[in-house]
Amino acid sequence: MARYTDSVCRQCRREGAKLFLKGERCYSAKCAFVKRSTPPGQHGQARQRKQSNYGIQLREKQKCRRAYGIQESQFRKYYDMASNMRGVTGENMLALCERRLDNVVYRLAFGASRAMARQLVTHGHITVDGNKVDIPSYIVKPGQVISVRNSSRDMECFKALREQGADGKMPKWLSLDADNLKGTVEALPQRDDIDLSIEEHLIVEFYSR
Ligand code: SF4
Repeated sequence: MARYTDSVCRQCRREGAKLFLKGERCYSAKCAFVKRSTPPGQHGQARQRKQSNYGIQLREKQKCRRAYGIQESQFRKYYDMASNMRGVTGENMLALCERRLDNVVYRLAFGASRAMARQLVTHGHITVDGNKVDIPSYIVKPGQVISVRNSSRDMECFKALREQGADGKMPKWLSLDADNLKGTVEALPQRDDIDLSIEEHLIVEFYSR
């Protein structure tokens, strides 16, 4: 699988928005986007040309894809799945991204960023309904219980969560038992549960050209 190996913060500058890819640092004054929000590259500071409709749609699609850390082919698959579901395609697509196991692990605050959450999943530290699942793109369903494996509970990265409990950022479609490092999917995520500033209709327009 192709992997992005350049500076992560360049992606925020490229998309002109904070994508929160680096955990705690993103909320601090050290955030590279706060220091410099112009697009990266030699001509980044030059005056921006007016974007075409295609350019606007493309950037919105890239912003969403990068925020969730999803490859193009997988992201396209979500669009196809969403367009075959009942309801609004853009909202269905965002809900599918939210229901990915790596994102759920991040939302439950087991990992400080989606990248870290993804690593926790691929390294086998996470279970779904008691069974180890190491596939970050696994789509969770309401009623399922996501937990940290017994053998991984003493890891340093879970210590703060156990001591301080959940912060106020927990979306209402998930619940967390911080003492037992266990989260439950209470419902399907709705559009207003998703705090990313993304205009999903532009992504639908991009793929339906
Ligand atoms: Fe983006 Fe976080 Fe880097 Fe800030 S610190 S530019 S929000 S990845």
